[in-house]
Amino acid sequence: MLYCQNCGAKRDSVSSYCSYCGFQFEEKSDSEDKDVKIEELEQKIARLEQKQVKDTKSGPFSPWMAIVPIFFVAAFFGFFILLIWIIRL
Ligand SMILES: [Zn+2]
Repeated sequence: MLYCQNCGAKRDSVSSYCSYCGFQFEEKSDSEDKDVKIEELEQKIARLEQKQVKDTKSGPFSPWMAIVPIFFVAAFFGFFILLIWIIRL
């Protein structure tokens, strides 16, 4: 049950004016707006979470992240061995 902010009398949740003092209620629509905003935020967060799950599940860069360092290490050692071979000659 809701009460008038002005006089403290019980009020209908439907009416926007207090039947005793005529005080105009505004917090009902405010709370509804907040609920809508929270719902929007929750939907946005849910979408972001889904995006993150998709990114981690099937990232197009994940195979390269493993191949590129191995390639560089192999290239470095190949160059190192080639350098030793050239010096020995
Ligand atoms: Zn009132």
